[in-house]
Amino acid sequence: MRQFSLPLLLALGLGACTRQLSVAPAPVPASTAPRVVQAGSALGRTAVSGTEAVSYIVARGMTIPVAGKTLAQLQDTFDEGRSSGRIHRALDILAPRGTPVLAADSGRVLRVSVNALGGNTIYATDPQGRVVYYYAHLDAYQPGLAQGASIARGDTLGFVGTTGNAPRDTPHLHFQVMRMPPDGKYWDGEPINPYPLFLLSHAAAGHADLVQGTR
Ligand SMILES: [Zn+2]
Repeated sequence: MRQFSLPLLLALGLGACTRQLSVAPAPVPASTAPRVVQAGSALGRTAVSGTEAVSYIVARGMTIPVAGKTLAQLQDTFDEGRSSGRIHRALDILAPRGTPVLAADSGRVLRVSVNALGGNTIYATDPQGRVVYYYAHLDAYQPGLAQGASIARGDTLGFVGTTGNAPRDTPHLHFQVMRMPPDGKYWDGEPINPYPLFLLSHAAAGHADLVQGTR
């Protein structure tokens, strides 16, 4: 994702904002259905380059996936180093243990599973299956959450914790965004930095939409 410069992202976001404003006057919530349809028809049904995935996410808007967190509290940890020479390629969002983890977008649960690094994890996708959202280190899952379940933006998926390789004294959500690869191997898609996407979603839709998004 490093090939997408911030100026390019900003250009994409501002373009999306201009289009939405010309179509939908101020009182209309930014994440209403026409906006989604507009983005879908413009981009086609199948994903898709990284650029298209970015445009799509910004057009839909992305909810900050930890309850109570504001844009100003987020830090860009995408390019940080991690153990064994890995690059992080995700955001760590610090919050007290037990804080609700929220769906960044509406869509469907792809997998609910436990692994050594991520601990209790969830893979989910948007309504059109273009983007993959990965949530890790959960203390616990929302009861009843299961593979295939439909989810709405802002739904509680689980709770912040330290399962997997997270430091026990630093509860956080490890949040990764990937584009859905053409072969459907959703766990192995190209990571996209969520941080500028939150900034762009904020600029395009207004802060209230990030907190109280709708389907
Ligand atoms: Zn992380």
